[in-house]
Amino acid sequence: MSNTSALLPRPGIDTLMVYEPGRPLEEVAREQGLHPSELIKLASNENNLGPSPKAVTAMREAASQMHLYPDGGAFYLRNALAEKLGISPDMLIFGNGSNELIEFLGHVFLQPGTNLVMSQSAFIIYKLVADSFGAETRMAPMQNFTHDLEAMAACIDENTRLVFVANPNNPTGTRVRNADLKSFLDALPPHVLPVLDEAYVELLDPAAQPDSLSWVKAQRPLILLRTFSKTYGLAGLRLGYGIGSPELINWLGKFRQPFNVNAMAQAAALAAIQDEAYVQQTRGCIQEGLAFFEQTFKELGLEAVPSFANFILVKTGNGRAVFQALQKRGVIARPMDGYGLPDWLRISVGLPEENQKAMTILKEVLS
Ligand SMILES: *Cc1c(COP(=O)(O)O)cnc(C)c1O
Repeated sequence: MSNTSALLPRPGIDTLMVYEPGRPLEEVAREQGLHPSELIKLASNENNLGPSPKAVTAMREAASQMHLYPDGGAFYLRNALAEKLGISPDMLIFGNGSNELIEFLGHVFLQPGTNLVMSQSAFIIYKLVADSFGAETRMAPMQNFTHDLEAMAACIDENTRLVFVANPNNPTGTRVRNADLKSFLDALPPHVLPVLDEAYVELLDPAAQPDSLSWVKAQRPLILLRTFSKTYGLAGLRLGYGIGSPELINWLGKFRQPFNVNAMAQAAALAAIQDEAYVQQTRGCIQEGLAFFEQTFKELGLEAVPSFANFILVKTGNGRAVFQALQKRGVIARPMDGYGLPDWLRISVGLPEENQKAMTILKEVLS
């Protein structure tokens, strides 16, 4: 061990928590003495249909150009996405996953003495980012696993800089009503920037999607975060984007490394946004899988939270023990003790045969 005792890291370094991701297939396979193909990963809300075939073709074609640095401005993807969304290209910023954009928001807005407001069981990365900037996190209680927007508003004070609303929320799968969200935004004090994290928004039927984009177009100070990791099945490439006014986007861009989004990701995403059939197929697959899970939980007498995303929260009792028992039998789910829900497990929706097998094994484990 090297001697680090004379080094001077910033205060609090030893208490910073590290995110516990869903366990990688290969790692669990090595540990359990199984082949990765024997495992079912339902831990990270990925799209087990795999990427859009159009994206795969685009990646193959891009492969021979990987000796070149990417276009840091993501010209083609930026313009195509701007056109699809009906906004100007300078209202977009791309990140190495939308996680990176959460970090940019921290760079712009957070420092010691400031705070970030979120719900108790919302995406934990918001808190970890606030911690890393020495800012306080204020967690509002939820109601029926849903953001309680009034409770969130009550947490806001003059030191609040950001309020995060994940809609639909991870890990609870719930969403907030459009009208409620709009009133919440209308009543926010002007020094607070709302961030709507819409990682799962494309899974909603177009008619059920929030009006958030129209609010940005109406020049409301607001950031929307979206990602190619979930619905678009490109989690491995790391690509997310933020939507906001050119001025906000410009601020965020000051903390962006010149080549934060790789060329393969840009090529894949450009193809993926043109594959509406794939998105529709994904929606169908998720709705079917959720219905099957809910049916099974009902048979087992387990409480579950109705979900608008591609995963579901189910009350199994001692979630970590059930997670471990499932893992031994080849199913990787996600324990929820880190979210203050020790009796719950989060299970992502997979392919129909994976869902079947997972429920069979869950029955065995619980009996
Ligand atoms: C998965 C997820 C993200 C981001 O994922 P990236 O892979 O970094 O784009 C962001 N927010 C929520 C709520 C998520 O569930």
